Amino acid sequence: MRALPGLEGLGRTVTTPEFEGVTFHEVVCKSALNRLPESSAMPFSWTVNPYRGCTHACTYCFARSSHEYLEFDAGGDFDSQIVVKTNLVSVLRKELRRASWRAEPVALGTNTDPYQRAEGRYRLMPGVIGALAGAGSPISILTKGTLLRQDLPLLATAATTVPVQLAVSLALSDPELQASLEPGAPKPAARLELIRSIADAGFDCHVMVAPVVPYLTDDTASLRTLFAALAEAGAATASVMALNLTGRYRDWFLGWLAENHPMLVRRYRQLYGSTGRVSAEYRTHLRRRVEPMLEEFGLTRLEDPYASPPRSPRVSRVRGSVAEDLQESLF
Ligand code: SF4
Repeated sequence: MRALPGLEGLGRTVTTPEFEGVTFHEVVCKSALNRLPESSAMPFSWTVNPYRGCTHACTYCFARSSHEYLEFDAGGDFDSQIVVKTNLVSVLRKELRRASWRAEPVALGTNTDPYQRAEGRYRLMPGVIGALAGAGSPISILTKGTLLRQDLPLLATAATTVPVQLAVSLALSDPELQASLEPGAPKPAARLELIRSIADAGFDCHVMVAPVVPYLTDDTASLRTLFAALAEAGAATASVMALNLTGRYRDWFLGWLAENHPMLVRRYRQLYGSTGRVSAEYRTHLRRRVEPMLEEFGLTRLEDPYASPPRSPRVSRVRGSVAEDLQESLF
């Protein structure tokens, strides 16, 4: 059994036939609430991350680099070596009981996905939701995982006492391209059904159309098809962000690009330069095309996520995105 740097209290390493190719590293964590730096532009200061690594395996995932702190690699290990904080809920409850806790909003899904497949085995989220709602802390969740559906009744109950924001990440509708870009994530059709379930449960579902991948998912016809599908599924709002490649995950993504779309490598070099940020011209061009479409389909994004209370006892209004500032915003 290997030691995991920075994570004391490794319990055991688990492989199981239902999760072929995946290894779970069960750890005992010391803290559950993570405070974001003061300089963060996100609309919340606290996050909770039940898992490290993510079996959704998105090629563009900016969280890949964080796996290197555990001496795993940011590629295949990120997709398959999943660290599970088995005592997360009890530690969280303890932290929320502190007199210093001000019932601030807490976001989930800002680093790795809390409803990735591991949640089907470990079921940490019900305890997290219950603890946060019990402490009066507004909850926001961003996910690609359809496992969220099983917690909708619990989230509806939580929304009677605290604002609850639910957001789904879906940036393309082509199933083949999606399977290549996000090989472990639920298909677009499954995520559209998740959006429908969230809306049916009485929530305003926000959709993160992110990342828009230049020259692959950004043509007007594809975006129109996607926005139409989101609106039809009952999405309330959407925000759109172009792919940035500012971290070490850039190498993993560019490796995928070279293997699958070699003719685009040169164009990407021109578009991203040495900074890894998509060019300002690209952002402007995309924004000009996207804004009228969002308006047409009634998906115009709102601002100020915690500006007002829920509009009814069990329905919380999504205002803005959960993680718009995780990467440089398109707009
Ligand atoms: S679902 Fe999110 S956290 Fe998981 S691999 Fe994809 S981008 Fe990363």
